Amino acid sequence: MTEPTFDSLSPLDGRVVGTFPIHDSEDVQKVVERARTAAPEWRTLGFPGRRSILVAWRRYVARHAAELAGVMRAETGKPLGDAQLEILLALDHIGWAAKNAERVLGRRRVPSGILMLNQESSVERVPFGVVGVIGPWNYPVFTPLGSITYALAAGNTVVFKPSEYTPAVGQWLARSFAEVGGDPSVFQLVTGFGATGSALCRAGVGKIAFTGSTATGKVVMAACAESLTPVVIEAGGKDALLVDEDADLDAAAEAAVWGAYSNAGQTCIGIERVYVHERVYDQFMKKTTARVREIRAGTDEKATLGPITMPKQTAIIRDHIADAVSSGGTLVLGGAPERGVVFPPTLLRDVPEFSDAVREETFGPTLVVNRVATMDEAVERANAVRYGLSGSVFSRKHGRDLASRIRGGMIAINSVISFAAVPGLPFGGVGDSGFGRIHGDDGLREFTYPKAITRQRFPLLTLTSMRRSGRVDRLVGRIIRLLFG
Ligand code: NAD
Repeated sequence: MTEPTFDSLSPLDGRVVGTFPIHDSEDVQKVVERARTAAPEWRTLGFPGRRSILVAWRRYVARHAAELAGVMRAETGKPLGDAQLEILLALDHIGWAAKNAERVLGRRRVPSGILMLNQESSVERVPFGVVGVIGPWNYPVFTPLGSITYALAAGNTVVFKPSEYTPAVGQWLARSFAEVGGDPSVFQLVTGFGATGSALCRAGVGKIAFTGSTATGKVVMAACAESLTPVVIEAGGKDALLVDEDADLDAAAEAAVWGAYSNAGQTCIGIERVYVHERVYDQFMKKTTARVREIRAGTDEKATLGPITMPKQTAIIRDHIADAVSSGGTLVLGGAPERGVVFPPTLLRDVPEFSDAVREETFGPTLVVNRVATMDEAVERANAVRYGLSGSVFSRKHGRDLASRIRGGMIAINSVISFAAVPGLPFGGVGDSGFGRIHGDDGLREFTYPKAITRQRFPLLTLTSMRRSGRVDRLVGRIIRLLFG
């Protein structure tokens, strides 16, 4: 019987980028079994051994970055420059995870306390064995590598299920690792649709790292619940940018435009809403509109805004634009095209807060700019959605205060998305944006569990004995009063 396959199509011209197997649960089981067999040796390499392989991999990816960017562009439609930028950020993370794993995860001594004076206490961080990574298509290198490299550095082997829209990028990553990493079972690929991801959740892996939509995140979590497999969920967002009356308006407009339209707005931490103090609203709108006019949407090499990667998303973007207008908002620029997957950059103003364009993730090149009377109102509106991923604030004097009041896992003050490029910072959200963290110290710990160890150095009063005497019990009574009374 021939193996079932699917084609990955380019949103640029519809051509077939590659044909890939649709792995079923039996196939996934076999791949996970190979990863499980490879895990002890990978772990035994220790931090220095894994570090040298990860650093060699980073070098390999850097040297072949142009080739990888080409595959990314073919499958997602993103401009080559954006693909290159994504690779740059991912490379920084590979190096950081490799170099910091020992510091963060190495054995750590813990004071034993007065009662256990005779014990030496320590914590070891133990890898789960096999980690299953389920990825999205929008940043097909940066996003999954945020889990894969940290899981590998922590001593796990990895089975990666890339999005059905970007399997060629996933294949490139796994192949490139095998080029330098020796054993190809350390980082393997399974391809297919939701059912393949579901099979990975049920294949007995030690942990699942999921990045994708909130709706799928809930299904993944339910599947993992059957076997109490722990999960990290990196899900959607509806991030806001706040502009105070004392903000640098040129910088704020520049950031809003980049945050909203880069990668055609298909960015989990993209800016979809802006709340601007009414005293500077008109000025901000003028600066933003001028910048949006400069953007060139298309599929040609000169375009700075590419097509929508996932054709079915176009219906959601259309609906949100229509809902914004029918509920009383004003369309300033752009709007939904009649056909096709290239959307012009779309700017909307004064959209009621109940509109889907304000409340739901649009994931397209649209931006809603609303005015507020005070920054308290801006914070309240920013926090009034189910999501809590990230945000941005522009203010000369009140940046820190505003940042601390926004509900979300990551906030940039006077810039946008900058936290994602700092490998030492944790990345993740709250609410419908998910839980758990990738990147940074937390991202390394996420792929291990803590193991507490005590070693008796010399015998002391034996409290844990069935032969404990009355004298010892009386002594315990005195100790309680002495220490805590
Ligand atoms: P998606 O939820 O449709 O798919 C994500 C992955 O899950 C794909 O690989 C898909 O095949 C798989 N999948 C689908 N059904 C499954 C099931 N039942 N069991 C297991 N796996 C299943 O998301 P998408 O369209 O690929 O990505 C876009 C979404 O990802 C957006 O909501 C975006 O905000 C979010 N995202 C979040 C982050 C973050 O770090 N928070 C980063 C990038 C993207």
